[in-house]
Amino acid sequence: MNTQIIKIDEENIDMEMIRKAGEIIRLGGLVAFPTETVYGLGGDALNADSSRKIYAAKGRPSDNPLIVHIANLEALFSIARTIPAVTFKLAERYWPGPLTMIFEKTDKVPSQTTGGLETVAVRMPSDRIARALIEASGGYIAAPSTNRSGRPSPTVAKYVIEDLDGRVDMIIDGGEARLGLESTIVDLTGEKPVILRPGYITKEMLEEILGSVEMDRTAFEENTSQPPKAPGMKYRHYAPRGNLTIVEGELEQVRNFINRELRNSEDQGSRTGVIATDETAGSYRASSIKSVGRRKDEVQIARRLFRILREFDDEGIEVIYSESFEGRGVGQAVMNRLLKAAGHQVIHLEKGSNSE
Ligand code: AMP
Ligand code: MG
Repeated sequence: MNTQIIKIDEENIDMEMIRKAGEIIRLGGLVAFPTETVYGLGGDALNADSSRKIYAAKGRPSDNPLIVHIANLEALFSIARTIPAVTFKLAERYWPGPLTMIFEKTDKVPSQTTGGLETVAVRMPSDRIARALIEASGGYIAAPSTNRSGRPSPTVAKYVIEDLDGRVDMIIDGGEARLGLESTIVDLTGEKPVILRPGYITKEMLEEILGSVEMDRTAFEENTSQPPKAPGMKYRHYAPRGNLTIVEGELEQVRNFINRELRNSEDQGSRTGVIATDETAGSYRASSIKSVGRRKDEVQIARRLFRILREFDDEGIEVIYSESFEGRGVGQAVMNRLLKAAGHQVIHLEKGSNSE
């Protein structure tokens, strides 16, 4: 398949291009496009064939449901069968934005889009290119992250092209994703709201509106006997090609430990990488040292994490160590992704233990 690659400026949107892209989706084709979270691989959410094509292009297991993207609240009424009252409060505050809500679906949504589930995940993105495209394509775009299944989600078009060139009809390059982390997913179909995937909209932010909110345990634990409620969270995910290990403990100890391990790996001929912070980056010795930003700035860390993982792949890094980050607020989403990227490989250094 010949993939058309175009650039669109969010500040000055070329509506003729958007019309063309919308036409592709209406006719059952696929268009990769930017959103404020990560890039999405879009097809007509109400067309079973389009959803099948999305799974095929992404190499995604077809029991892993897609999020339906809408551009206005009215669109929700034809795809959600029951809409709890809190939806409108959440929508007023966080839509358009990085929040996905789960509802019971209507028959308009084919089961191919929802991975066979009777529920549908819905989000209204804030990115202007995304919104214009949704409107131009009929109002409902099913769009998972554009990464080939298992790899870190693309936050810049370069990685979208790497994963999808020749597999979709069009790729829209709209620059770097503002947030860089997938949406928070909250399930509103049960007795209590449950966060299935943490994100930029934090548990605390949701609790301001919903009262108490639960976090699906499988977001942070490995091998819990219960399967994750978001089917996608059970798959190996976000992983770089190199072997990634997270090291937890007092910063000084962590630094010493990582440096020693890096030395060993380099001695064995491996190319090494470190995920550090502005405060610590200067104190490591590795083939590639990358700072996610200031330690306290979780929003910045969230924005950079996926890109850094992909850059290590570009550089052929084989062994990667990462510092651990504060698991509060947006940091909770950062640690959720980092743990999955590392396949839950974590080394915990006891306080005061001799790590040198
Ligand atoms: P992505 O498409 O890459 O952003 O991932 C979407 C995530 O949403 C996956 O983890 C899916 O399993 C989850 N998801 C989508 N629809 C549903 C649904 N109806 N119920 C539970 N999880 C869902
Ligand atoms: Mg994804």
